[in-house]
Amino acid sequence: MENNDGVACKDKYHFAIVYNAYTNVAYGDCTFLSGCYNWDTCPYIHYTRVPAINPKTFADMIKLPKQLEQAMTYKYGNVEEAVREIASEVKDGREYPAQWINTDIMKFNFRVIGRYDVIMIDPPWSIHMKLPYQQLSDNDIGNLPIGRLQDCGIIFLWVTGRVHNKGIQFLKDWGYKYVDQITWVKVNQINATIATGRTGHWLNHCKETCLVGIKGSPKANFMLDKNSIVEEVRGTSQKPDAIYGIIERMMGPAARKLELFGRVHNLRAGWLTIGNQLPGVNLVEPILKRRYQRYL
Ligand code: SAH
Repeated sequence: MENNDGVACKDKYHFAIVYNAYTNVAYGDCTFLSGCYNWDTCPYIHYTRVPAINPKTFADMIKLPKQLEQAMTYKYGNVEEAVREIASEVKDGREYPAQWINTDIMKFNFRVIGRYDVIMIDPPWSIHMKLPYQQLSDNDIGNLPIGRLQDCGIIFLWVTGRVHNKGIQFLKDWGYKYVDQITWVKVNQINATIATGRTGHWLNHCKETCLVGIKGSPKANFMLDKNSIVEEVRGTSQKPDAIYGIIERMMGPAARKLELFGRVHNLRAGWLTIGNQLPGVNLVEPILKRRYQRYL
């Protein structure tokens, strides 16, 4: 407003410093900014987007203990509101609103859900770090009956550095040809490359990798998007939203889309999301509802 003769600037983000009792401006910016785990004690400078998040919501948000809730609050205000909003979202006639099943994937009967044109999996690979959810062994992940979820289609599998080669092997075991990979370069809240990754043993890991596999000869719009994403780091393990755009443009709106090991913020119109941190079951597609009742 000050620089534009009183007219608010609409096409840029604006940030304001969050002053808490423990903030010490002399320390400068927190390296982790919005990804900081220590909101309620960190003396470094943190910012809030204005006016997208009002100061009251932000104050509530920084008191939330869990990273997931923090991420949800950041995006929607609160978790219940997010679930309600997502469940009612229908983008076009051919697409169902977000559907989800809370279950233990290790024990889940995959017959219930049928076949998919595209699958995204972000498995809870074991890493040497305390995480706010259950982790699985490599064998547990490799033994999942992923092969039966697709006759012909595309798979996107997120891997960490340690399991990069194993992920490629699993794709082959599940019946896919490993064809490509997408790199997510992590940036912080103010769009700068992050200086300190939270993982890695020899180098700071500031990127993540999603392997791409193909089974059969799926019809898709190839060569539309690039193999890199530059997006902000949010909650622990949370993947960038840009991946959905890439997949949806590649597969088209009618494609059946499945995400395994998804959380609340992954719920999305046109997708079925499965994970053990989701709020119950929400099925809309008639055939899926019937199968769910018959097999479970
Ligand atoms: N891609 C997600 C992050 C996934 S983290 C994002 O963008 O936020 C892995 C998730 O898998 C966690 O929610 C964890 O609770 C869940 N999970 C771990 N073991 C599971 C199991 N056996 N069945 C279902 N979900 C499981």
